[in-house]
Amino acid sequence: MKKIAVFTSGGDAPGMNACIRAVVRTAIYHGLEIYGINRGYEGMIEGDIKRMQSHSVSNIVQRGGTILKSARSMEFKTPEGREKAYNQLQSLGIEGLVAIGGDGTFTGAKLFFEEYGIPTVGCPGTIDNDIYGTDYTIGFDTAVNTALDAIDKIRDTAAAHDRVFFIEVMGRDAGFIAVESGIGGGAEFVLVPETKSDIDLIVKSLKNLRKSKSSSIIVVAEGDELGSAQTIMQLVKDRIQDPSKDFKVTTLGHIQRGGKPTARDRVLASRCGMAAVEGLLAGNTNCMAGVINGEVLYTPFQDCIGKTKPIVSDHLKLIHLLSI
Ligand code: ATP
Repeated sequence: MKKIAVFTSGGDAPGMNACIRAVVRTAIYHGLEIYGINRGYEGMIEGDIKRMQSHSVSNIVQRGGTILKSARSMEFKTPEGREKAYNQLQSLGIEGLVAIGGDGTFTGAKLFFEEYGIPTVGCPGTIDNDIYGTDYTIGFDTAVNTALDAIDKIRDTAAAHDRVFFIEVMGRDAGFIAVESGIGGGAEFVLVPETKSDIDLIVKSLKNLRKSKSSSIIVVAEGDELGSAQTIMQLVKDRIQDPSKDFKVTTLGHIQRGGKPTARDRVLASRCGMAAVEGLLAGNTNCMAGVINGEVLYTPFQDCIGKTKPIVSDHLKLIHLLSI
């Protein structure tokens, strides 16, 4: 293998730049020509591909976002789109890919390999942490710390005015950000898509809690089956029926995607980036480089896509137990 390319795809995540840097420099170290594909599969189809050098990734390790930009490409989901992408790679002689993204990105890469034999190694780049085959994903730690910082600030005002705050964090299908920011922020409740949320229990507990505490924090993952933080707040408020109680909602939104990556994310991203290139060279492809129990391991795309990473049950117990 002489020429490879790297791209970022799906939702952006802090640490993607550190990963691109590691891929580019590891490739150069091993004597490969390295190309950067802009805007994920969309740029691959359009041939928006540029040669990268060591200096192309100078001064980016500390920056959020992705210098290669990211996109969601509907066209790549069609056979015609993938054929165009293959022709673009062929014209440049690109023989292998490093895909930094989530499970959708890996689904596309797996299909592309099956159809055209282009080997790919993935790096888990998503703030949601919902990828099987790695203990943590690139961007998750930064997103949790951003949410935590906001929760700490909200707690100050919640305590000053005896308020109940419902804080919505990101996580359409997974509650990892909610759980870890909830534990770190001392939330009374954390509502996540993985478990059934019980309004009656929340109402009962809030009534009891009010004897010992005046303010409460409830963290809601955006994908909770009961609805948004706003909807859940209204359900609780209607049942508590106490005009003296002040209920507030804050949706943290896209601030969780931005900002400079934490040390943990930079290190994880660098390790995965190096492992991805070395995986390609060793023929360890059609898989994702992740870190499990401190060790870099390759997991087949099939498992990353098909298996669900559960929330640690200890974590849910912890929230319940510590909120008394
Ligand atoms: P995140 O978890 O941050 O959303 P993701 O990688 O899961 O990241 P998606 O939008 O699901 O994000 O997928 C990224 C891109 O991968 C899609 O825009 C599409 O181009 C490609 N892709 C996803 N699913 C498929 C599929 N079934 N076939 C071909 N390509 C796909």
